[in-house]
Amino acid sequence: MFADVVNERARVPVAGKSVIAEVREIRLAEALIRLGARLQLLEAETSLSRERIVKLYREITGASPPKGMLSSSADWFLTTQPNIHSSLFHSIYRKVRSFMPDDDRRATLNALIKSYQLYSETLKAHDEEIVLSFTRAWTLPRLFDAGVLRLNICDCCRGRFVALAGEDTSDFVCVLCM
Ligand SMILES: [Zn+2]
Repeated sequence: MFADVVNERARVPVAGKSVIAEVREIRLAEALIRLGARLQLLEAETSLSRERIVKLYREITGASPPKGMLSSSADWFLTTQPNIHSSLFHSIYRKVRSFMPDDDRRATLNALIKSYQLYSETLKAHDEEIVLSFTRAWTLPRLFDAGVLRLNICDCCRGRFVALAGEDTSDFVCVLCM
């Protein structure tokens, strides 16, 4: 199901052979690689060929991109530490996304990049471990859009937490209050 979510995203075509458009794609790919993006994410979000992406990845990181598909499982987001981090990240993301201009065709991606920078810089400043990787953060809104995850309000603290969409929401208690 996750593969469908990824493939559904329209690839942004590089107009003709515009050098400027390609430079823009390379800049975006570079920013994503520096945030720790995996190959599958880079292929979904940029119009660069796999060969170009792999070459760029090696140039920036000095290593080949890790092989293998992204995890399609939502379970990771529900365990204690990841749930706290993904709920925190999602609240930042929701706010940042709401400020994105309507004409931004990459609003979701740009909001993800900004939110992830805020999330990771805040944790670094407090010497806290960054539990949520950029690639995991990128899958979050997709799992929401696909109807796999949603936010539940905790009965105790009234905070919003990432939860499975199909579950009964009455008497929901978050991982912190539990
Ligand atoms: Zn709670």
